[in-house]
Amino acid sequence: MKVTDHLSRAKSTLFSFEVLPSLKGRDIQDLYSGIDPFMEFNPSFINVTYHREEFIYKKLSNGLHERRATRKRPGTVSICAAIKNKYGVDAVPHLICGGFSRDETESALLDMHYLGMDNVLALRGDPVKGETVFVPEKDGHAFASTLVKQISEMNKGNYLDDEIVEGIPTDFCIGVAGYPEKHFEAQNLKSDLRHLKEKVDAGAHYIVTQLFFDNAKFFAFVKACRQIGINVPIIPGIKPITTIKHIGFLPKTFHIDIPEPLADELEKCKNNEQAMHVGVEWSIQQTKELIAAGVPCIHFYTMGKSEAVRQIVKAAY
Ligand code: FAD
Repeated sequence: MKVTDHLSRAKSTLFSFEVLPSLKGRDIQDLYSGIDPFMEFNPSFINVTYHREEFIYKKLSNGLHERRATRKRPGTVSICAAIKNKYGVDAVPHLICGGFSRDETESALLDMHYLGMDNVLALRGDPVKGETVFVPEKDGHAFASTLVKQISEMNKGNYLDDEIVEGIPTDFCIGVAGYPEKHFEAQNLKSDLRHLKEKVDAGAHYIVTQLFFDNAKFFAFVKACRQIGINVPIIPGIKPITTIKHIGFLPKTFHIDIPEPLADELEKCKNNEQAMHVGVEWSIQQTKELIAAGVPCIHFYTMGKSEAVRQIVKAAY
């Protein structure tokens, strides 16, 4: 079922979460043990992230180094099919522009379509690890908006190959990313919102936000979206802090602020157990407030920390 159908039928705030594919070489059971604890809360859908290739340098016997591409977390689409089959829950594959030509994108979308997937989260992807600028593939998409356009065209039966007439239309419900605290490359919030609107105008059906710790920023973001005519559902993204290292890591990686009262509490923590307690309590309050405000669904970023998210959902839903 489409995400937007889940949202329109809901009588209260839905629960969804995001998982990462297991590291290459690990058993899929690893992934299932991260999903199992959530099944008692009836997730409406489960997102599965996409991880592009990374480059590693292997030392050769002649002393030179060879640059090799490797994907550490492959299997997004097949994992979605496995989740649907095992749990009977809709799974939403993430699809990125990075590393894909338009033709490869079309093939990936067909794989999803043949496997019966109704949803896709369309993203640009970050620059390759170690690089500062996003470089699209030859004939690939430079921005998520044109990826959305390609999916929308397939939904009308328009394929890249002109010779395909009356192609079978796909029927994807398309999600895109939004940033309450602005995407780190955007000049300002206004230009970022303008580009977000381009994604919606290109056919996106809903938005999932980057994680944030200050609900006021989310509410302001929703208001600003509505003011410029973005009328699709907006799903807030929540991630609990679970380690002391997160205090530095999360702002640096996701370009978000940690509010002063939260940072002050975290600074008093002597170990990860205490940090997780503070982080979980903060996220419980955030979640309760978002539910009270009537958000359609909350998207929890688990990042391999199911227990923290389980505690939040148990306390807040
Ligand atoms: P875009 O919407 O293309 O925007 C990227 C930047 O370009 C923004 O600054 C925007 O303002 C600007 N921009 C857009 N259009 C134009 C234009 N026409 N001209 C000039 N500037 C423009 N990454 C992964 O690799 N895998 C994942 O599975 C994944 N899942 C994610 C899930 C969620 C919910 C979120 C919020 C992010 C996720 N990401 C993932 C990270 C995402 O790929 C990065 O944040 C990426 O840097 C931007 O992706 P985007 O789709 O928002 O890009």
